[in-house]
Amino acid sequence: MSSNENAGLINHKHPSVTIPAPESISCEEAYSTKAFRKIAEVVVSSLEQYLEQIEPVSGLALTDPSMLTHKARSLMTSASEEIAPFDESRLRKIIELYTRTGIQVHSKGYMGRQFSGVLPLSGIFDLVNSTVNQPSSFYEAAQLPNVAERIMQDELNTFIGYPENSFAMVTTSGGSLANLTALLSARNHKYPDVWSSGFYGWNKEGKPAVAVSENAHYSIKRAIGIMGIGEDQMVKLPVNENNAIDSSRVQARLKKAKEQGLHVFCMVASACTTDTGSFDPLEELAAIAQEHHIWLHVDGAHGASLLLSDKHRHKLKGLEKADSFAWDAHKMLFTPGTCTLLFYKDKQRSYGAFRQEASYVFEKESDIYTALDSGEQNFECTKRPVIMNLWVSWAMHGKAVFSQKIDHLCQLANQAYEVLLNEDDFEVIHQPQANILCFRYTPDNLDPEVHHHFQLYIRNKTKEDGRFFISKVELNGQEVLRVVFMNHEIEMKNFRMLLQEIRRTGQEMIVAHPAARYETLSIPQ
Ligand SMILES: *Cc1c(COP(=O)(O)O)cnc(C)c1O
Repeated sequence: MSSNENAGLINHKHPSVTIPAPESISCEEAYSTKAFRKIAEVVVSSLEQYLEQIEPVSGLALTDPSMLTHKARSLMTSASEEIAPFDESRLRKIIELYTRTGIQVHSKGYMGRQFSGVLPLSGIFDLVNSTVNQPSSFYEAAQLPNVAERIMQDELNTFIGYPENSFAMVTTSGGSLANLTALLSARNHKYPDVWSSGFYGWNKEGKPAVAVSENAHYSIKRAIGIMGIGEDQMVKLPVNENNAIDSSRVQARLKKAKEQGLHVFCMVASACTTDTGSFDPLEELAAIAQEHHIWLHVDGAHGASLLLSDKHRHKLKGLEKADSFAWDAHKMLFTPGTCTLLFYKDKQRSYGAFRQEASYVFEKESDIYTALDSGEQNFECTKRPVIMNLWVSWAMHGKAVFSQKIDHLCQLANQAYEVLLNEDDFEVIHQPQANILCFRYTPDNLDPEVHHHFQLYIRNKTKEDGRFFISKVELNGQEVLRVVFMNHEIEMKNFRMLLQEIRRTGQEMIVAHPAARYETLSIPQ
């Protein structure tokens, strides 16, 4: 950020006093179509400038929150009883402040999280969503979004393979909410009385329990807590060396759970896991779930997008046998957060999450309009028409823009894996299945005892330096570095630059503190 910008606006003691008293305008003027056009032009030109001037390699621009608060306050009007007119220069400064702070998702130094820059079409369409403002839980309020949902469910089902007309898709604001919704459907399906009477008499078949991979996303654990199952009733399924559920050991684990007085009614598989991008064996798990009359939910928040790739679809084999699965479009599908698709194999069960008896809905008279309402299937009442950002890019560009991105991101992870195999001072943790890769920096001149804290130091120092943004995870009690390739513009030379930066940071630290136990050094947060 340039040092002289905002200079005239900021007054640290009284941030608002430097803004001249505004002429006032009427509410009609603030709401007018003329204002609309003017504001839109300012926004579009500011964003265009931002996108044109992206720093090629930058990760995170972390700003002191109190400084940012000062700056933000300095851009607020002092008017209170009167309506201040639109001020182009302040709006430009607000957009500047917004775009220049935070994680730089459009830059090639950004390799750390699961969101990305979006297709211009998909992002700009938010303007349409917000201007027409049609909340989408009921057909009459949001007609095109509800039709678009039905179109998208059928388009996507050509890659899933559910029988036509008997499945359902519901959109939710995020994968966490989709996971909770699916697990509620599973619980209410198995325990139809719970909705009205609570969990009294739940011990007939044993305590209700959910079987999950040790590597499941935290939203699953939250759902178990929220539903009143209790985290103690979470049966952890063993994983293999690829961090995927070891299906050969699942039967034994379920048997043990039964002996412990637990009744597993739902099993959750990941496709793929957040930590390492591992795909659980869906085909095998579906067979086991069917044998035991267990609901199988697949958390495909990150990896279900691979369905669109001819190269990678096979990793989701068996998905069509799952009772439900979650799919985030805001991760690998170039779509702004949040847009999640929750699929159910059996449409009727999609009505079970938020009511006692699913059948009630079908006895109710529905007409051609209310048949498309999704208010009964999702928790949200006023819900953004999240499907539109996805549908409009699908409608305009077609499927290939997504599959090409996915293929490219997965290829980047594979290339990075090959690069790491040839670097003696790095240790690669796993072969990538998706666009996620974990590794460690383990130079010869570092005591293996301190590897764990050293990775943490490296990650935080890299983040603070701001050129690269990577993440870290704990695997089997060990901290490891993690990259997620979300920006399809990244090239291998950028990844090599990251390794160089890690080396430099690490060696500087080792030279400065040769005998350090890295947990005792002050690590930048
Ligand atoms: C990201 C992720 C989630 C959470 O989804 P949100 O859309 O962020 O709520 C759940 N499960 C997995 C496997 C994920 O990667």
